[in-house]
Amino acid sequence: MLYQKEKQIAIAAVTAAAKLCQQVRQAGFDSFSKSDRTPVTLADLGSQAIVCQFLSDAFPNEPIIAEEDAQMLQQPENLELLKQITGYVQTAIPHATPEEIIAWIDRGNGKIASRYWTLDPIDGTKGFIRGDQYAIALALVEQGQVQVGVLGCPALPLNRSEGVLFVAVKDQGTAMMSLDGSNFHPLQVNQYSDPDRVQLVESVESAHSDRPRLGAVVKKLGLTRPSVQMDSQAKYGAVARGEADIYVRIPLPQDSCRRENIWDHAAGAIVVCEAGGRVTDLDGNPLDFSLGSKLEQNRGIIASNGAIHDQVLEAITACAN
Ligand code: AMP
Ligand code: MG
Repeated sequence: MLYQKEKQIAIAAVTAAAKLCQQVRQAGFDSFSKSDRTPVTLADLGSQAIVCQFLSDAFPNEPIIAEEDAQMLQQPENLELLKQITGYVQTAIPHATPEEIIAWIDRGNGKIASRYWTLDPIDGTKGFIRGDQYAIALALVEQGQVQVGVLGCPALPLNRSEGVLFVAVKDQGTAMMSLDGSNFHPLQVNQYSDPDRVQLVESVESAHSDRPRLGAVVKKLGLTRPSVQMDSQAKYGAVARGEADIYVRIPLPQDSCRRENIWDHAAGAIVVCEAGGRVTDLDGNPLDFSLGSKLEQNRGIIASNGAIHDQVLEAITACAN
């Protein structure tokens, strides 16, 4: 079977990073503001260091395009923060040094190639800080197509405990398991489109999507269930495991030029597609991961159980701004 080594390394990397995030959240942490005014924590940086080290070890020449960089850790005033991150990373990689951690994080500043990895070390940092959902999202892309996706959701429940890993390989399906590897089983999306049963999942952050337009789409579709709000690509996991049927991301009118980051969607998209669902942009086009660190040719996102997808596309067109 294709991609077995890639899958195993990605699972090991995301599992180790997820454990670091759980430890940090338990111990407490500060958050910092990046130049784009989005937050970052030592867990984002530690998670990126771990995943990039695992990938570099197994695939030394392959580019990684990840969200964070090590610039702030090179400032003398952040020496204490670097030491703290080193302590956490050493629980997974005992020989790690502060210098190596900086180098591993910056391995994530690679360039798009015909084959590359993309990583969001913590997707939904706002959710991580709030104590809600977040995800570690890793994907392998070849010729613009996602081939492997591993989505770690440490705060998502499964069988009365917390911590879920979604694993998808192109043409091999999606599986879900606990973070300790137990409870492994294949996933299938729901098959229905009945508006009384269909469940919508959306972002917690109102600034991340056009809620008034989404409200009009819900009305047009005749959905009766109140929507569920969830941070991060955990929303894709919710669709893949049949907890939700539609995840829609509509850019706000004032953000119409904004394009989505590849690391915010690559792993989630394959998790939904390989579970039998469908993922497109708001115009019904497939997501094109070949163009750079942004989805330059796509506007907004629709992930669904497939059965309801065309109806969602029609409703979005009908509810245009
Ligand atoms: P979510 O929890 O699904 O809303 O997604 C979190 C992601 O939203 C982060 O990874 C950011 O890349 C992304 N994000 C940040 N600002 C915006 C924005 N103004 N519009 C859409 N997405 C955003
Ligand atoms: Mg993100």
